[in-house]
Amino acid sequence: MLDTGYTPWMRQANLVAGEWIAADSGRTIDVTDKATGETIGTVPACGRAETERAIAAAAEAFRSFRETPLMERCNLLWRLHDALMDNQASLAELLTVEMGKPLAEAKGEIAIGAQYVRWFAEEARRAKGEIVPAGVNGRRILVTKHPVGVVGMITPWNFPSSMLARKIAPALAVGCTVVAKPATATPYSGLAWGALAEEAGYPAGVVNVVTGSAREIAGAMMDAFAVRKITFTGSTEVGKELIRGSADTVKKVSMELGGNAPFIVFDDADLEAAVEGAMVSKFRNAGQTCVCANRILVQSGIHDRFVKKLVERTKALKVGDGRDDGVEQGPMIDADAVEKVEGFIEDAKQHGGEVVTGGKRHERGGTFFEPTVVTGASQAMQFATEEIFGPLAPVFRFDTEEEAVELANATAFGLACYAYTKDLGRAFRLNERLEYGMIGINSGLITTVEAPFGGVKESGLGKEGGSQGLEDYLETKYVCVDGI
Ligand code: NAP
Repeated sequence: MLDTGYTPWMRQANLVAGEWIAADSGRTIDVTDKATGETIGTVPACGRAETERAIAAAAEAFRSFRETPLMERCNLLWRLHDALMDNQASLAELLTVEMGKPLAEAKGEIAIGAQYVRWFAEEARRAKGEIVPAGVNGRRILVTKHPVGVVGMITPWNFPSSMLARKIAPALAVGCTVVAKPATATPYSGLAWGALAEEAGYPAGVVNVVTGSAREIAGAMMDAFAVRKITFTGSTEVGKELIRGSADTVKKVSMELGGNAPFIVFDDADLEAAVEGAMVSKFRNAGQTCVCANRILVQSGIHDRFVKKLVERTKALKVGDGRDDGVEQGPMIDADAVEKVEGFIEDAKQHGGEVVTGGKRHERGGTFFEPTVVTGASQAMQFATEEIFGPLAPVFRFDTEEEAVELANATAFGLACYAYTKDLGRAFRLNERLEYGMIGINSGLITTVEAPFGGVKESGLGKEGGSQGLEDYLETKYVCVDGI
């Protein structure tokens, strides 16, 4: 089997109230190496009862953790940052094994997770309230900030470490406590946050991590009044369920949901830069990112030159086991994901699309899939409105800026979008007209800790990163001081 610097981080138990536990039932779930299909270990199949104990522990821990001096909370975060970076190689290897992405991308994911931790250690010191001028003399209006309390976190498999970083770091920064449920396909990178929190010195109960039935664990979180916030990253479908489920106890919600990013290339674009941007935006993580270019919209004048270069670059991508040198695309997460991409390709062909490269399962077998480009894409095709989540690049053709904007906005999603142009006026018009939470002008890779990451429309509520990412874990109180 595998080499293992990562073994110490591969926790085959859940962290509840400072103890590493098995499921009450003793049942476990197998975890596989996504490149080989081999089982690498198990995690507990926990459910409602264990989650309720985790919530109780987090609620108890909140009573004292919220009082922890600010500088102590910042120092704990710095130690968490150092624990991540000191163990970057082994955490990245574990991530690659259980998720499939190339090792270089996994190292990058651990590093950006650490950057989020560092960012929120810095931002916590600026969680300022304000004093507002009162309308009458003698009265003082103070606006103060407070941690929301116990936060329930549910995260997906595609960035199993950094999606938790963006939630755990701001929560801990302001004094909240955590019950986290990582995705079942990639639980070890989530459980590693429990081990890292222990190493950094967080008190028992501040960080709890449970694995198992999504419905039972999420159900316990929804039902518990003590959980004052739910933060979720995943599909829009599940996000909607969680918003409904949070209504009964009126929890705060943050939802980082699906996307259908348009990647628009105008005639005046720098061709090389646009192709480079499309490659990174489309094929990073085998096309399994929420901000992936889902529809590549190319203006007629540059269309053929762009497609030629995109196809050349796509053909050259090295597909393989993420641990091997030079691999740029690993396996897809599971057989369903492969079938979904095949379905999109079949549907496109039936509606007149042409597969110019790729289009089928990779000769390596398993869940490896050929990087694919389809031209002649149209609104009649499923991927015009649905999220692909795979290494398939559909190219649409358009003539005018108005048409591009209309096509780009013709979806219920509103997460990320991209546009390549040298026209500054157009860049500003696009910012005003594109209904997206994030816009990359001449950039295909826009995620950064300093900026608020998040979507509009059915792509979500709330922001992660930036100063807004801290605000989402705070309650605002107003105190009126009079009569003194
Ligand atoms: P998913 O099926 O929604 O799963 C995400 C998480 O929700 C997992 O932990 C999953 O648990 C859990 N879950 C599943 N069904 C649930 C239910 N009924 N109630 C409560 N929790 C439930 O999404 P995914 O397939 O893992 O991830 C892909 C999706 O995430 C894509 O749509 C992508 O765009 C989105 N995403 C968005 C962002 C963003 O920042 N906006 C970032 C990354 C990904 P199990 O694993 O146990 O099923």
